[in-house]
Amino acid sequence: MRSLSLGKIFGIEIVLHWSFVLLAVLLVVSLLFLAPQNGFISLMIFVFLFVSVLLHELSHSVVALQLKSNVQKIVLLPIGGVSIADEMPENPKHEFLIAVAGPLFNFILITVLWILVHIFPLPFPRDIFSQGLNFNSIQFAIFQYPLFALFWLNLVLGAFNLFLPALPLDGGRVFRALLGIKLGYSQATHVITRISTVVAFLLFFYGLFFGGLVVAAIAVLIYFGSQQENQIAILRESANDLSLEKVINKNPFVLNGTITLREALEKMIEINKNICLVELHEGFGVFSVVGLAKKEFSENTLLESLTLPVPFVLETDSAERILEKFLTKGFDLLPVVNSEKQLIGVIEGSELQKEYQLSKIKKLFHL
Ligand SMILES: [Zn+2]
Repeated sequence: MRSLSLGKIFGIEIVLHWSFVLLAVLLVVSLLFLAPQNGFISLMIFVFLFVSVLLHELSHSVVALQLKSNVQKIVLLPIGGVSIADEMPENPKHEFLIAVAGPLFNFILITVLWILVHIFPLPFPRDIFSQGLNFNSIQFAIFQYPLFALFWLNLVLGAFNLFLPALPLDGGRVFRALLGIKLGYSQATHVITRISTVVAFLLFFYGLFFGGLVVAAIAVLIYFGSQQENQIAILRESANDLSLEKVINKNPFVLNGTITLREALEKMIEINKNICLVELHEGFGVFSVVGLAKKEFSENTLLESLTLPVPFVLETDSAERILEKFLTKGFDLLPVVNSEKQLIGVIEGSELQKEYQLSKIKKLFHL
């Protein structure tokens, strides 16, 4: 199933994750066939959930934008959301402020609701917590009092996101920011990843035996989410020591896109290359002999029609950003340009990987 783009707020793209879409479909189906009498209130709870998650995520984003972190898009999941930024804040103070902003919104909302229902005679079960937490009466009250449904959803969203010390949840980020002050970003991430794994396993078994499939699914999400955060931390750590000077080939072999395949191959065989940079009308591309088998061609085909256009890397880009580009998009070769967009060299993915593995090993053995 596909995720659904809902448009932009403050220049940030809002995307509904497919699980949210699935929830909406399940809700409509179950309302039509199973419990039409609860139809209106169920629909309202769904809208409440959507609005609460959206405002929770926007709160993160507004603070991130204030701190000059850019936010590209927000993906809304039924249990919260994920903000996708170009780069995650490495500054612990920034990460802390961005992470608490979401749950803080939920807690402010329930405080305002609590005050309102104690001033005005609105329908609300005011004494529901007087005898401790009783989940049967809470479930009853959710379907009886819409304002209580809104209150409970935000209490759960805020508490769940803030108080579970696991990545990628807000609580894990807050915890990482606090630990990061002492240990540094990477070390803090490694520690929290271990804690997250424990939390995920406990939550998974709790979900299987008591809490239901949703809880087990959240546990899986936490497990993979924290592993991914850890990979990013390892990547950053190793990228910090990576010397780009070593991997940029300043005498790149470049062909013009207007020559024929035969001419290109002759030149490549001469210098024993199977991949090369191609200058196109606009920008650059990569031609690879290995990829040729999948294409239709004759010896007179122009090289440009067999070339895959690629983005360029700025010579001032950080090693981490360049490495991320190679690893996530799977490029074989990228052109490096200066601030005037003039070609100054190329980076080959294989060379970069080699250098990256070396710097990882150096780190491991403190060489
Ligand atoms: Zn959050």
